[in-house]
Amino acid sequence: MRIANLLGRLVVVKGDGVIDVEKTSDGHFSSDAASIFDRWGEFTEWVNAGLSADRESLDVHDLGAPSPAPRQIFAVGANYSDHVAEAGLKMPSTITVFTKFQSCLTGPYADLPLPSASVDWEAELVVVIAREARNVDAGSAWDHVAGVTLGQDYSERAVQKSSSQFSLAKSYPAFGPTGPWLVTADELEDPDDIAIECSINGEIVQEGRTSEMVFPVREIIARLSKTCTLFPGDVIFTGTMAGVGIGRKPPRFLAVGDEVTTCIKGLGSMSNRCVAGR
Ligand code: ZN
Repeated sequence: MRIANLLGRLVVVKGDGVIDVEKTSDGHFSSDAASIFDRWGEFTEWVNAGLSADRESLDVHDLGAPSPAPRQIFAVGANYSDHVAEAGLKMPSTITVFTKFQSCLTGPYADLPLPSASVDWEAELVVVIAREARNVDAGSAWDHVAGVTLGQDYSERAVQKSSSQFSLAKSYPAFGPTGPWLVTADELEDPDDIAIECSINGEIVQEGRTSEMVFPVREIIARLSKTCTLFPGDVIFTGTMAGVGIGRKPPRFLAVGDEVTTCIKGLGSMSNRCVAGR
């Protein structure tokens, strides 16, 4: 199943079209994309029983974040060994976690206003939680996941370097696009081995597989849930692979007019155009 947030309304994506959830369910389910994760079990049963409504057309530029109002956003740093190496860091024995504040979330095709000349890209797999998770073990962690989507963890590197805390550097407006839709794990051949690619103006800059993570998704959820309760709709950015701008010699950052395209083969893609910021 694929669900999306189209102009603020929850839809099920079918082929090239979408089915409006609130209308098709006669109001049984709300149109609010943020609230569906609280009723995830009931909702997936309803969708899997078969939807016979007419499809409406979909313009991807009208898509918002699949989980638009998470209670919590987690992001994992240094989670691919090739990225750890390019950053000149030691292989982590404990997980590095920061947050992106909710105000940075946008849809998959939002413009990216550049606040400076040192904004970098980080293509990432993003996980959305469905079932509350508290002290779960890695073996059952995927049972708590609604699905996966794409994300960019855009980062202002000068601000990031100036502090031991990353969260502000990662939370300028539009620094957290996700989408285009949420894909449930049953649609994935292997949820622990997803290929992600990022290109700028058509040139591939990042290529990796989630099987190369230092802490795989199940381990991230197990470790986070030992400390925090994870709630339905919570969003986890799971880390980026090598090929970010700051790891290059000389470093390369985003410029006005650049087009950053992020994709998961077979699952969808998103694209952000860099525009002048403040
Ligand atoms: Zn990141």
